[in-house]
Amino acid sequence: MKNSLLGNNIISVKEHNLQAVLLSLLYEGQLSRIELAKRIHLSNTTITNIVGELLAAGLVTERACSDDEVDGTRPVGRPRTAICLVPEARYVVGVHVGVGTFRVALADLRDEILVNRTENFEIDSEAEPVLDQICKVTRDLIEVSGVDPAKILGVGVGLSGLVDFVTGVNVMAPNLNWRNVPVKDILSSKLGMPVVVDNNVRCMALGETYFGVGHNLESLVFVYGRIGVGAGFISKGEVFRGSNMGAGEIGHNTMLLEGGDPCRCGKHGCLETLVSETTIIRQAEDLRQRYPEGILANLMASDREGKIVACVFEAAQAGDEHARAMLAKKAYYLGVALANMVNLYNPELILLGGLFAQEQAYFIEPVIKTVRQMTFGDLGDRVRIEATSFGWKAGVIGAAALALTQFFYLKQ
Ligand SMILES: [Zn+2]
Repeated sequence: MKNSLLGNNIISVKEHNLQAVLLSLLYEGQLSRIELAKRIHLSNTTITNIVGELLAAGLVTERACSDDEVDGTRPVGRPRTAICLVPEARYVVGVHVGVGTFRVALADLRDEILVNRTENFEIDSEAEPVLDQICKVTRDLIEVSGVDPAKILGVGVGLSGLVDFVTGVNVMAPNLNWRNVPVKDILSSKLGMPVVVDNNVRCMALGETYFGVGHNLESLVFVYGRIGVGAGFISKGEVFRGSNMGAGEIGHNTMLLEGGDPCRCGKHGCLETLVSETTIIRQAEDLRQRYPEGILANLMASDREGKIVACVFEAAQAGDEHARAMLAKKAYYLGVALANMVNLYNPELILLGGLFAQEQAYFIEPVIKTVRQMTFGDLGDRVRIEATSFGWKAGVIGAAALALTQFFYLKQ
């Protein structure tokens, strides 16, 4: 049942209004009292009371603003003031879990990162030791930051694969071999803090909506690829998860009807088998053997850090035709998948992250071309396709945004 059809007692109405004010400020950065009242459909008196409480609690501050900054009617003789959040009044922890790597960050109310750390783990590791490692890094970072733990609202976690946002269970992460891991329960009992989990790409989409280039857009899609490939949908400013939390699993769209490679999901010919880093690495090894004198082979021979994907991009830039052809094919498959998605969902903006945001010339530009060619009517011409505005931080900023939107209301 929709929330608007449920009854409410007076205490939860107050909490609800408080949360509406805080989330509006989180989203907009600053608003006048009049704008807040209009936006949330509350009386000016109620807003004045709520803002008074928030000022007393040190969560918001007032500042004078110029005429064009605040778009309300100004009573004669009174200065315009905007209410804005005090960024360091509260903090959240954002955790991005990828395949074989996780990143933890502590962020303030603007989702600005204070401290962060990245660690690797064995891909075939069980979930529990990885979650233990995440807890240890989280505690270390909080200590290093010097932030009062009482000011930390909670932890947002972006996980790979199918994630049940309501129960907090990582239902299926084929690239990690995790099944039904109750991540929320495990982390909240170990850390003693509220924890919320969601799919990691969905978190990135939320982060861009609140704090990035997706601001004020009705619809956007974030598409992320490294070892796995996935998408996160935003509709009317909110995350769209689908009926079984599976919306956005484009990595498992069947692209090849026959002869496709097996995928970690158990099927064949999925998008992920064609465009992931794992595939690039495998094909780079093939090219190295077939063309031992080629630019790519030379770069790989002098690569001491095992950064094969970077070698492929570098070789393409240096004029290696085989590396260029390989990347062009990947961008083509990604473009076809995104063209199909544009026909289905018709978003305003598609943001690319991870591998797909690495080199404009080899992913974004050819992807845009394919999308323009393969979509219905002018849908492909109208959709914007860009790299994420957050670069490598997209995962943690997204996870922190999830925690901010879930836990940001006064309970203490
Ligand atoms: Zn698959």
